[in-house]
Amino acid sequence: MISSAYPQIPVEEAVERALAAVSPLPSVNMDFESAFGLVLAEPVSAREPMPPFRASSRDGFAIRAADGGPAVHRRVVGDAVAGRASGFRIEENEAARITTGAPLPDGADAVVMVEHATLEGNVLRIDSPVAEGENVRPIGEDHRAGERILDAGTVIGSAEVGLLASIGASQVSVYRRPRVAVISTGDELVEPTVTPGPGQIRDSNRFALAAAVREAGADVILSEHVGDEDEDLNRLEAAIAQADLVLTSGGVSMGHRDLVKPWLAEHGEIAFGRVRTKPGNPVTLALVNGTPVFALPGFPVSALVCFEIFARPALLRMAGHVQIFRPRWTVRAGHALRHADDRVEFQRAVVTLDRNGNAVANATGFQGSGRLLSLSGANALLWLPEGAGRTAEGDEVDAMIIGEVRVG
Ligand code: AMP
Ligand code: MG
Repeated sequence: MISSAYPQIPVEEAVERALAAVSPLPSVNMDFESAFGLVLAEPVSAREPMPPFRASSRDGFAIRAADGGPAVHRRVVGDAVAGRASGFRIEENEAARITTGAPLPDGADAVVMVEHATLEGNVLRIDSPVAEGENVRPIGEDHRAGERILDAGTVIGSAEVGLLASIGASQVSVYRRPRVAVISTGDELVEPTVTPGPGQIRDSNRFALAAAVREAGADVILSEHVGDEDEDLNRLEAAIAQADLVLTSGGVSMGHRDLVKPWLAEHGEIAFGRVRTKPGNPVTLALVNGTPVFALPGFPVSALVCFEIFARPALLRMAGHVQIFRPRWTVRAGHALRHADDRVEFQRAVVTLDRNGNAVANATGFQGSGRLLSLSGANALLWLPEGAGRTAEGDEVDAMIIGEVRVG
C-alpha cells in the first residue's frame, strides 16, 4: 500500500497552524474612502466637538424658555439659517425663526417646533410651555473634542466612513489589503470560454477561489492555470515572490501526477499535509520563503470548503481583523444525516429560523465533493464530528454560518 508521508491532523490543529503561519500585514496610510472594508491600525480621535455649535434639531423658532408659555407673546426679530452664524442675539420675549441644523442665536436656549407655534405678523405664540434645551443639540452631544471615536481594530464600514468624513480624518492608518495569487493546476483544465475536448473539463476553482478571496476583502493580484509537470509548477515561484498568500488547487492527492506537495516540500516547509476532514483530506499548507501557500484539493467543493475553514481565517488575520471566525450556532438537524465517522465532515446546509428563533438545518442534497451545487445557496457548513457517523432528525448540530440566515 502506498501511504502518505504526512500524518492526518485534526481540523482545529490545522486551523491553529494556519493562523500561526501568518500575522497582520504592515499598516499603510490611505484616504478614508479607499479604506472602506479595511481594519484601522491606529485609533482615530476627533479634533472638534460634534455638533461644533448649539444646533437646532427642528425647523421652528428659537426662544428663551424662561420667558414663559402660551400666554406670552414673543416678537420675532431675526432668521437663523443652517450654514451661517446667526450674528444676532434675542432678548426677553423675543424669538427668531430657525431651520434644522442652524446655530442658535445668542440668548436663545430652546426651539419650539413650527408645528407647535403660530405666527401672526411678527408675533409668535406657542401652544405649550417649552423646557430649556428642547430641540437643541448641545455642543459635543455626539462626541467631545479630543474624544477617541474609533479604536484600532475597527472594521471600516459605512458608519465609520461617515464618521471619518465628519471629523475630517481624510487619511487613516489601516492594515494593508492582502495580495493573493490563485493558481489552478491540472493538465485536464481548459478556460471557461473553451469547449472541452476529450478528457478535459473547464477550470472552475480558479474563479471560485478568486471570488472567495475578494469576498474575504483581499485582492487577487495573479490568477493563472498551470499544468501538472514539475516545470509547470515552477511558475509558483513568481506567485510566491509577489503575493502575501498563495492558493493552489489540485495536485495534492495520491496520484502519480499529484506533484504539488513534493514541489512545496522541496521549495519550503510543510506545516501540514493532511487533515482529518471531509471533503478536503489532502489539504496542505506550506511556507515557502515565508509566504503561506495553501494547496487546496482539486474537487471544487473541497477547494472552497478548505478555503473557508483554513485559508479565510488566515487572510482575515493578515488584514488585521480581530474577529476572524464565522459564527457557530447550535441548530437542529431537519432530517437524519449520514456522515464520515473517521473525520469531521463539513456538510453544506441551509439554516432557517422559525418565528421563535429556532434554527433548523437542511443539507443541500447530494454531498459529493465535486458537486458545486451543494454549496450554491448554502448558508452554513455543518461541523459533523468524528466518531458518530450519523445524526438523527432533531439532534443538535454545530453549524458554521457562512451566509445570510432567513426566517423560513
Ligand atoms: P486533483 O486534486 O488534481 O486530483 O483533482 C481532483 C478532481 O478535481 C479531478 O476530477 C479534477 O479534474 C477536478 N479539478 C481539479 N482542478 C479543478 C479546477 N480548477 N476546476 C474544476 N475541477 C477541477
Ligand atoms: Mg489534478
